[in-house]
Amino acid sequence: MELDIIRETDKEVAELIEKELKRQQTTIELIASENFTSKAVMAACGSVLTNKYAEGKPYKRFYNGCENVDKIEELAQERAKKLFNAEHANVQPHSGAQANMAVFMYAVKPGDTVMGMDLSNGGHLSHGSPVNFSGLYFNIVSYGVNAQGEIDYNNVRELALKHKPKLIICGASNYSKIIDFKKFRDIADEVGALLLADIAHIAALVATGIHPSPFPYADFVTTTTHKTLRGPRGGIIMCKQEHAAGIDKAVFPGMQGGPLEHIIAGKAVALKEALSDDFKAYAKQVVLNAKALANSLMSEGLDIVGNGTDNHLMTLDLRKQKKTGKDIANILELVGITANKNTVPNDPQSPFITSGVRLGSPAVTTRGFKEEDMKEVGKIIAEAVKLSGTEDETKIKELRARSLKLCEKYPLYKD
Ligand SMILES: *Cc1c(COP(=O)(O)O)cnc(C)c1O
Repeated sequence: MELDIIRETDKEVAELIEKELKRQQTTIELIASENFTSKAVMAACGSVLTNKYAEGKPYKRFYNGCENVDKIEELAQERAKKLFNAEHANVQPHSGAQANMAVFMYAVKPGDTVMGMDLSNGGHLSHGSPVNFSGLYFNIVSYGVNAQGEIDYNNVRELALKHKPKLIICGASNYSKIIDFKKFRDIADEVGALLLADIAHIAALVATGIHPSPFPYADFVTTTTHKTLRGPRGGIIMCKQEHAAGIDKAVFPGMQGGPLEHIIAGKAVALKEALSDDFKAYAKQVVLNAKALANSLMSEGLDIVGNGTDNHLMTLDLRKQKKTGKDIANILELVGITANKNTVPNDPQSPFITSGVRLGSPAVTTRGFKEEDMKEVGKIIAEAVKLSGTEDETKIKELRARSLKLCEKYPLYKD
């Protein structure tokens, strides 16, 4: 329907969107940061709200005609606060990275010392990578993980005592253990630092009580809305009331102009969905499925960093097989599984090659995959690892058919 409307104006874009729909329907999506949002969320994002300028906050705008978007943004704020038990929520950040940037803008000055997890150890670009604004304008001290893929809190404490950061960031893009927010708070208190918990990846697990909440420990909590939370692409900042006015000012006029009210409407719809019992069941299944996949892979003789997972993702460690993350992610694509190469702790390979592949369960769980399906996914991956380097077309086709069978068992966006 929407495609027909686009086709009338632009055949090229309509065709590419149609191809992308087909790709999503016919491949097993294991990229840990992706998900399939509901049609209601997509409809909100594709609505007339895209036409509206609304600089400022609800009921305090710089433009007229905001009576409807005011209420929509207020709904999104209230739902975010309820879902995460937060004192204040700003739902305007265009993305997770921008949410973090706004916290930096409010909490620290250029040149100040900030501590965050190293990118190649599972941290995010916006936590101090030298190629990101966070690494360019601040003095970054990075912490990593040990060989088991766990944060060494004693090491974090030693680094904090030595470097006296103004801001400490916890939260990651590739970390499969539970994060101890209280320990981070204690360390921050010892050195007088503010604490930012970036729950972009684990948001759904936090919202449903499966992962401990960063509140009341963190001063600021940032998240994306499009990963486990299953909303539209975007960010949210939550914080204690004492920081509310400063954070709002950092977002606008500090960093952004007009908020994307159509996306904020999508966030409101997604947050309503996330407050439901169905979503609780979903989040629980996400973790069960990740564990089932990890167990399947390990029983096929493959290594997982940290020997399993406590959340929605894991890193396949290919050093024993003498394979690279790049090669395995590529053969997985040939057999109908999408995933991304990723470094393992102390990776001997470069970030462009890597020795690992990151695998996550949020998207396939949305489709309806259960533990037995994850077991089959693990077997397909193990076969693909063996195949890599042989270019055996027949076997690749066979595996591709097995992936497709799973996809057909759980149709996506069909009705
Ligand atoms: C994905 C992610 C972000 C950034 O999200 P974008 O919307 O891609 O900017 C920030 N922090 C963490 C920990 C993430 O995993």
